[in-house]
Amino acid sequence: MRISYDFHIHSALSPCGDEEATPCNIVAMASVKGLDAIAISDHNAIGNVKTAMECGEAFGVTVLPAVEVQTAEDIHVLALFPDYEKLEKFFSTLNFPEIENKPDIFGNQYFYDSDNEITGEETRYLLSGAEEDIYTVCRRIKEYGGKAVPAHIDREANGILAILGEIPPDLSFDALEFSPYADETIKDKYHIFRRLTDSDAHRPTDISDPVNFLEAEENSVEAVFAAI
Ligand SMILES: [Zn+2]
Ligand SMILES: [Zn+2]
Repeated sequence: MRISYDFHIHSALSPCGDEEATPCNIVAMASVKGLDAIAISDHNAIGNVKTAMECGEAFGVTVLPAVEVQTAEDIHVLALFPDYEKLEKFFSTLNFPEIENKPDIFGNQYFYDSDNEITGEETRYLLSGAEEDIYTVCRRIKEYGGKAVPAHIDREANGILAILGEIPPDLSFDALEFSPYADETIKDKYHIFRRLTDSDAHRPTDISDPVNFLEAEENSVEAVFAAI
């Protein structure tokens, strides 16, 4: 079946995420827009994924466990998993510098429950990247059963092409992600890869409309993950 998706959405846990972007508000907006499958891909953090998955079940929206990792080279990579435990195990292998967030300057980093209540706050500043390089991050994503997708590769900021100048063939990515405004010529250039287009929304209203599709066996976490 045809699955409309948006696998790159930030919640209010990301310091740059809108305060309205609670995990359940995101799922509700995805449902209103008619999306079948989404992922909460916060910067270097997974603390709102479980709540989003719970809300996804209530709304009939598939929520893939995911995170947007910033590597030592400042490249952004989406790590997508077929279940939450695998995401959690992978994420626990990464090392981040202990830089404290300054909410007044960078923004709040809140965890939420399914009633949109704040349940806690991340004190580590989440826009400081992991100590692991792109090779290590990709290897570990695969070791723990996930899929590695370099994020917004057409963008200057934190895109792999701007930083490395190419897609190193030995990284064997599962797909490449483009921003919604990517030029068709750059998309054509990488036609041998599976190409995803995601919103990278930092507020619920910026989540994709149902315009990007995957072909999956059914609308479940396992099947959508397998279709990537
Ligand atoms: Zn990014
Ligand atoms: Zn992002």
